[in-house]
Amino acid sequence: MKRLILILTLLFTVYSYGQELEIGVMRAYSSSKVQFTHLSGNYTIYGDSLEIGSISESQNLIVRRSGERVKASIGSKDLGSFDVIHLKEVNPSSSLKIQTLSPSVHKLRKYKNNFKIFPEDNSYLTVVNMVEMDNYLSGVIESEGGGGKDLEYYKVQAILSRTYALDHLYKHHKEGFSLCDRVHCQAYHNMLRFTPTIGEAVTDTKNMIMVGPNLKLAKAFFFANCGGQTSESDFVWNKAISYCKSVQDTFCVHSRQATWTKKIKAGSWRNYLVNHFGYPVHDSLIGPMIYHFKQESRHAFYLSPQLGIPLRDLRSKFKLKSTWFSTHLEGEYVVLEGHGFGHGVGLCQEGAMRMARLGYNYDQILNFYFTGIDIMNYHDWTFLMQDSEQLSVGL
Ligand SMILES: [Zn+2]
Ligand SMILES: [Zn+2]
Repeated sequence: MKRLILILTLLFTVYSYGQELEIGVMRAYSSSKVQFTHLSGNYTIYGDSLEIGSISESQNLIVRRSGERVKASIGSKDLGSFDVIHLKEVNPSSSLKIQTLSPSVHKLRKYKNNFKIFPEDNSYLTVVNMVEMDNYLSGVIESEGGGGKDLEYYKVQAILSRTYALDHLYKHHKEGFSLCDRVHCQAYHNMLRFTPTIGEAVTDTKNMIMVGPNLKLAKAFFFANCGGQTSESDFVWNKAISYCKSVQDTFCVHSRQATWTKKIKAGSWRNYLVNHFGYPVHDSLIGPMIYHFKQESRHAFYLSPQLGIPLRDLRSKFKLKSTWFSTHLEGEYVVLEGHGFGHGVGLCQEGAMRMARLGYNYDQILNFYFTGIDIMNYHDWTFLMQDSEQLSVGL
């Protein structure tokens, strides 16, 4: 029964897109006691389905774990214990400050719209922010990248983040929400507070999403800097993604993260290549090349594909900024001279920022980094999806 309710709730989330997303917040702290303080508007508190109180100016609600339930109080007034507590905004875009009291964390976070709090399987609380898509995206873009960028760049981020969110609605369904607030799901640490341009970008791109072939939501890959050329997706993962083709990018090459150098003890380089890949050090031709690799454009393998040494393995083993590097020997060190920062597949953030500064619009930027994608309105997309499903059923 619980599972059925969960599935129905998630389906409701999908079909009610435009109203609310369910985001697990404060996930970095394992909280067993949380304080909700009034910030703007008013809230009605529901314990299970009963109205049990309200939060208005200068009031704090404290929710703590109590056995298998959650217990609510305002000041010295005990509101009772429940399976779930809902905080529903009375005024549109109301907001609350949230602070973890156990463990004690000084940082306050501020969020808009509605909340629900229920017990986790362990001894902690789950706090879910039921937030309007646009408020969520504004919070994500500010949490991820902060201020100081151009409007068209923020529009690009808004479309990528919206597409990502819709493509991962079920990521945390076992825990009772869609996405969490940590970096692997898109950082979401606060409502939008400091950068009005972000809000403008989200509104200007309302409902816009990026789709690939066969109307599939596109994988919205991005990274910091490509160093002058983005990567083919199958160089990084084993899968070729048709719209993530390698492109030459001159927009990012003068930014800070376009080049890097790293020195590694030649012995540890050699040992890794020999022990993990059986590098033929005693071969008179190939052996001496172990420290000498020239990579003028992006490759998938070190030296030669026949040796079977994926550059992505070297990147992960030696914590390299990218897979695009050349090597030479200096004394007892192998010196790596590299380009870019990140996996290199999809959108290069520093290149996109520069394009926006030069006057390119969001559509031109996305179509520069992704080949053969479409930017569509979400509602048109759902309509076409239903249509194509009916067609395939008809066939
Ligand atoms: Zn997550
Ligand atoms: Zn780039």
